[in-house]
Amino acid sequence: MDVRINKSTLSLVEGDITSEETDAIVNAANARLAGGAGVDGAIHRAGGPSIMEECRKIGGCQTGQAVITTGGSLKAKYVIHTVGPVYQGGVKGESHLLKSAHLESLKLASAKRLKSIAFPAISTGVYGYPVNEAAHIALKTAIDYLNEHDDLELVRFVLFGRKTYDIFTDELRKLI
Ligand code: ADP
Repeated sequence: MDVRINKSTLSLVEGDITSEETDAIVNAANARLAGGAGVDGAIHRAGGPSIMEECRKIGGCQTGQAVITTGGSLKAKYVIHTVGPVYQGGVKGESHLLKSAHLESLKLASAKRLKSIAFPAISTGVYGYPVNEAAHIALKTAIDYLNEHDDLELVRFVLFGRKTYDIFTDELRKLI
């Protein structure tokens, strides 16, 4: 599903983010940038060891913040590593932190003058965020950003599996 937001395209696809050709893909990293399961492991496996070398030099990333490395052997030129919150019932500032993770990633893409960025469904795997709530926050943050900025041509969400894709599609329909 593609929609036009201001001068940009917001796109939802079902798939594997490691094969995306956007300028940057976003990694749902952990605070130590140490690699792990899920999309993080998949990105490091597909992109090769140079991404982890750069992560080690950076050292870490706080929850809600974002850092950037090159994309190693990925098609994407950059990986933006952001750390979403662990869901703890929704009363520990998780929504603010999840919004911040998306916003800081978008700002980093703009600062690097990138034109396209792809996000996974941050925090919805091991970190346990309910997918519908996470989708609402992720999509609203992207829509608000695109309404205020003209530089990014494409913001894509690459959803792993039909169920997550369908939930994102439902939430997007409610927002537009
Ligand atoms: P978190 O720790 O932030 O919850 P996970 O990697 O456990 O991160 O999960 C985040 C989302 O990424 C989940 O929806 C998971 O299904 C999805 N995911 C896992 N592998 C991939 C992949 N290769 N491409 C896109 N999304 C993926």
